Amino acid sequence: MKKQVVSSIIALSLGLFPFQPLQAAWDRPTIAAVSDGLDAFWGEVLLRLGVKYRYPLVYSHRNIQSTPCGPAMLAHYCANSNTIHLNMAQMDRLVGQVGDSAGYFALAHEYGHSVQRHLGILNKNLPIVKIELQADCLAGTFFAVSEEVGILEPGDLQEGTMTAMMVGDYDYEHTNHHGTPEQRGRAFLSGFNDPRSCFEKY
Ligand SMILES: [Zn+2]
Repeated sequence: MKKQVVSSIIALSLGLFPFQPLQAAWDRPTIAAVSDGLDAFWGEVLLRLGVKYRYPLVYSHRNIQSTPCGPAMLAHYCANSNTIHLNMAQMDRLVGQVGDSAGYFALAHEYGHSVQRHLGILNKNLPIVKIELQADCLAGTFFAVSEEVGILEPGDLQEGTMTAMMVGDYDYEHTNHHGTPEQRGRAFLSGFNDPRSCFEKY
């Protein structure tokens, strides 16, 4: 993934000037670049829907960190504070196992939750699996835009799909069930192929 150009190219494609100040304590500049791209893209999409997008703050940390939603271990989005919390050990593991687009997927998925919050979807008491699959789908949509503006490299789409599958689970009985690997991979590709499907199917 040619991450260094993510924000500028996506912004250019949307006719925007995304010069946002850095919003968090980064320990990986690539996260900042990708976040800028996500801010610009979803900001524009929500604007067209008449919703002002309050960009989420993105925090990256190595250890368990207390957040407004409780202790953060794995990547998650906290709706109360509109903050994304990335665990860099988890990110490194995914990137090491799959490739650089694994991190792109993880961040795009959490942004998906932020988009859901702004659209009022998180208030609807939907089953967690539905919320999670929709976030996977929205991550797929961001991959599609990235491809459109030429920043996906060969294999990136496969890496994104593989990551979505890797974070799936079979804990059907568990309230925190996020979807099976097959469901998550399919949701991601669905968003890549047709953004509307994220709101029609999930
Ligand atoms: Zn999620």
